[in-house]
Amino acid sequence: MDYQDTLENKTPVHRKIIHIDMDAFYASVEQRDNPALRGKPVAVGGSKERGVVAAASYEARKFGVKSAMPSVLARKRCPHLIFVKPRFEEYKKVSQQIRDIFLEYTPLVEPLSLDEAYLDVTENLKGIESANQIAKEIRQRIYDQTQLTASAGISINKFLAKVASNINKPNGQKTIHPNQIDQFLNELPIAKLHGIGKVTAQRFKDMGVFYGKDLKELSPSFLSQNFGKSGIHYYNVVRGIHNSPVNPNRIRKSIGVERTFSENIIDQEDILDKLVYLSNELENRLSAKDKEGRTLTLKIKYADFTQYTRSITLIDQYFKDKELILENAQALWHERPKKESVRLLGLSVTNFKGLEDDTQSVIQLEIPFKKEGFKY
Ligand SMILES: [Mg+2]
Repeated sequence: MDYQDTLENKTPVHRKIIHIDMDAFYASVEQRDNPALRGKPVAVGGSKERGVVAAASYEARKFGVKSAMPSVLARKRCPHLIFVKPRFEEYKKVSQQIRDIFLEYTPLVEPLSLDEAYLDVTENLKGIESANQIAKEIRQRIYDQTQLTASAGISINKFLAKVASNINKPNGQKTIHPNQIDQFLNELPIAKLHGIGKVTAQRFKDMGVFYGKDLKELSPSFLSQNFGKSGIHYYNVVRGIHNSPVNPNRIRKSIGVERTFSENIIDQEDILDKLVYLSNELENRLSAKDKEGRTLTLKIKYADFTQYTRSITLIDQYFKDKELILENAQALWHERPKKESVRLLGLSVTNFKGLEDDTQSVIQLEIPFKKEGFKY
């Protein structure tokens, strides 16, 4: 998430941005490659007790199965759900195929994950004026080459394009023209605003904010007092202002996952369950991005809203597998300030292989804090 926009940037910059998003990506690849799975509820992920759904087919979603859901719950909702192990190598291959298609239209491609990207086609390599037309062509070409469907959103900035791509999903597209933006945002339910999660949406509803038009009533100072930097971001995007460029060279410095719980957690076993879940999910995300890193950080937000983070850096190993992640996450957990209940847990990996900070490795050699690593 980036919050570069400030209140000074009051003029919306008009560009032609497309957000492309593959439909139920991992699950669709599995259904494509195994005809026995077609038309059936499929979950990609581990079926075991501690497994997590990484992706669900549309047939499974009808039963309320969603990605990031514990597999046990998914099976409860859909007893005939078919679990399939993820094949990241295959997903990466398809991801490269679609990226090659994007690059025929514009060099300004910013991938968000294996199956999603922003494209700036304001000036494109084919000289096509209509971004809507380009999105149609790209989706057709993706289908011809991969037999997979994608959805697209088209508008003047990344934020609006992202919101738009969800509207006619699956296998559809939506353009929000500059003259429709105000009305579109006024009528947009608050939970649909990209970047607003369940908990934040609920906080807004408690304040009487249900739609974009309600959000517009709030002042920037009120929003920043209540939501920090994100508050300013909300203030801007609900006015159609989001000037962050499509950045083809964005270097990802951290990969993480965090969950805010609907109820604060006190029970130690519940905490362990959450750490297992977060470790699984983090492994998936690292694997999807083909990254591994030396530093693992645990973030805890307590019920009283105080926040605590603690990291561990390994000297001779990388965080990649869930077992190593979980083992260290638990160790970090045991060092926390002991307080009653927890409302958020997060795990992230930084210090990626190939991008390590040299100064840090020097420090690591000088301070043998702990045999297998050190903390800072
Ligand atoms: Mg997708």
